[in-house]
Amino acid sequence: TEFTNPPIDPHLIENIRFARYTTPTPVQKYSVPIVGSGRDLMACAQTGSGKTGGFLFPILSACFSNGPSQVQPPNPPKYGGTKVYPTALILAPTRELVNQIHEEAKKFAYRSWVKPAVVYGGAPSGEQMRQLDRGCDLLSAAPGRLCDFIDRGKISLANVKYLVLDEADRMLDMGFEPQIRKIVQGCDMPTVHDRQTLLFSATFPREIQMLARDFLKDEVFLSV
Ligand code: AMP
Repeated sequence: TEFTNPPIDPHLIENIRFARYTTPTPVQKYSVPIVGSGRDLMACAQTGSGKTGGFLFPILSACFSNGPSQVQPPNPPKYGGTKVYPTALILAPTRELVNQIHEEAKKFAYRSWVKPAVVYGGAPSGEQMRQLDRGCDLLSAAPGRLCDFIDRGKISLANVKYLVLDEADRMLDMGFEPQIRKIVQGCDMPTVHDRQTLLFSATFPREIQMLARDFLKDEVFLSV
């Protein structure tokens, strides 16, 4: 398929074919080589542009090719169950959107070492806890509920290699800036130099440019 150029991991190509995607959308076509080269990315992409694949494909491709991190989780769990250390964290504004991302993540991570999980508010946390206990390498999260799980010692961000902010302008419109800043700057998230950060937004007002200044380094700007 056209997904072989630029090259992505063969197992991911198989899963993409299985999902019946035949042709990459522009954001998918360009994000794979940019992210694959290790650069941060600021992407201007609307809903319907295929932006979900735009961040999932390069992240999963790298995860599949590199294999699981050899880093041992540094802390034992504080209480019952296990503490989880996702490799990739995707933040999005709503329950609906994080679930959509999680569904795509499950399709494309199929039969790989990468275990996707999802957390969001407005639902009891018990089932989300049990899901996390089954393993979590790629976490799709709404900011408020993620902060709760971090505060409760259930999730650590210490092993995050890939951070995605999806629909960043909507997250700010919804008042999530304090939670987002806490997650990115006030927890155990690796610094901007020790992670790769992708920021997706439909618009670029001053507030988004400030986030980009604080969260991204030497980013490539992609507008599709
Ligand atoms: P998104 O912009 O990521 O929300 O994607 C919009 C819709 O397009 C979703 O239903 C995707 O499953 C679908 N989609 C994304 N990329 C492709 C592709 N390359 N080929 C076919 N469908 C796609």
